[in-house]
Amino acid sequence: MRSLSLLFLVASFVVSFAQTPRLVVVISIDQCRADYLTRFNDHYLPASQKGFNYLIANGAHYRDAHFGHVPTATGPGHAVLLSGAPPHLSGIVGNEWYDRQNKREHYCVDDLTTETVGGRSKPMSPKALQVTTVGDELKMATGKRSKVVGIAYKDRASILMAGHAADTVVWFDDSTGNWVSSKHYCPDGKLPQWVQALNDEKHIDMFAGRTWKPLLPAEAYKDCRPLGNPEPFTATLPASPGQPLYKAFASSGYGNDYVFLTAMRAVEAEGLGADDTPDILAINLSTNDYIGHAFGPNSPQVLDISVRTDRGLSDFLKFLDKKVKGGLKSTLIAITADHGVAPVPEELAQSYRGPGKRIASRLVEEKVETALDKLIGPADWVLAYSEPHLYLNFGAIQSPLFTRESIEQAAADAALEVDGVYFAFTRTQLLNGRAPGWDWSPLVYNAMHPHRSGDLIVITAPNVYMSSYPTGTGHFTPWAYDTHVPLLLTGPGIKPGRYMRRVTTLDLAPTLSQLLNIEYPSGNMGKVLTEAVK
Ligand SMILES: [Zn+2]
Repeated sequence: MRSLSLLFLVASFVVSFAQTPRLVVVISIDQCRADYLTRFNDHYLPASQKGFNYLIANGAHYRDAHFGHVPTATGPGHAVLLSGAPPHLSGIVGNEWYDRQNKREHYCVDDLTTETVGGRSKPMSPKALQVTTVGDELKMATGKRSKVVGIAYKDRASILMAGHAADTVVWFDDSTGNWVSSKHYCPDGKLPQWVQALNDEKHIDMFAGRTWKPLLPAEAYKDCRPLGNPEPFTATLPASPGQPLYKAFASSGYGNDYVFLTAMRAVEAEGLGADDTPDILAINLSTNDYIGHAFGPNSPQVLDISVRTDRGLSDFLKFLDKKVKGGLKSTLIAITADHGVAPVPEELAQSYRGPGKRIASRLVEEKVETALDKLIGPADWVLAYSEPHLYLNFGAIQSPLFTRESIEQAAADAALEVDGVYFAFTRTQLLNGRAPGWDWSPLVYNAMHPHRSGDLIVITAPNVYMSSYPTGTGHFTPWAYDTHVPLLLTGPGIKPGRYMRRVTTLDLAPTLSQLLNIEYPSGNMGKVLTEAVK
């Protein structure tokens, strides 16, 4: 009996050990809406080729995963993915917010106390992230033996996923075409040798003058705008090295290839997945977002970059299968995104007779300024409008007749007069739990950080795109097209299946924590994806 139970103990230990991944790879495809994995499916490689279809066939595919906050933007989204903490806890309430104390706009990864390494761009770090990440917890659980690496063109994507204690975190300096980091991650002021070597190769310069053309035959783009055009698009990159080339490259069909190449170098040089101590590699494919903003979700360019992402993913997974100890059987791959995107409003309105509309964000500021000028007296009433957060200048109030709440309400009423604004929540309403009880109100509560958020949170109606750009499209809203993203986990410990239960992206972090046998990140509010865990 005793030996039997001992045998059982040994067996269960072996099982749990076998299911702990040696490498967790989180790939956030920027602006990848949930339908890009299903709608374009026929154009992706067969499952045997290790692209999206391999992951779908062998993984847990949550087809109804959503972000649970506004603004659905890159900074807040990436802060959620590996922390499980909504913006009101993570502190990342937008790509930027207004810093009341220092009276200036604060970009979400700004850190004036550190220095850029490998370039001269503004210094960045995770200082503003007020919670830990899965990577931070893994570092603590293994006495720093685990490696945590973050790679993305966008600083806010790589930094906010990788977290505070990560080893190597790089982002792109488009003035030089180099990967850079900061002294937060490289205290000796030097890039890791493999990063410096890759920069020295000047890989992107080889793409000067190259033309991005559709990867698939013209027939494949028949469902995309412009309808029926035999050659859907071409875009030629600048002919010589320099900032215009580096910017255009990152926004072209070739952009992701360089990120995957960099990830492969990281796996080799940092020895990710090479031993039994688990490591984390967080990657953001920013290119998909740049292209999506310019052309919209129904464009041939978005289909093309999605197909190219599939091909890049295929090569990367084949590489991991060879390099990681135990191959893909020991590698947990999580595919997701940081937000979705709206249809181009004019396209929806003109081609589909839908409610698409573009409004300028300055209209909201103007209405609020005018209303408060009239009510209280002339002053600069709007300190900043960093969508959806609008900050009011309470310092301009001279009379005790006006309470903070009454001014917020007057400003909210004024914002509501802008055609296309659905509602303006006030800070007082939200902090006192008095906001309207709509099904989606929790997304706004999740945005209300007591110190960093605005005095108003302004929400546009569905399909209304508030922007200063005259063309293209965007995100930021609480509506389905912006919140609905892929959530697909494949690898050790995962029970494959097609899951239709509505879940939130907060749930990724605690699920990964369980698979790694570590504690949750400090601000985790997500729940384990129980049906997907063996
Ligand atoms: Zn984004």
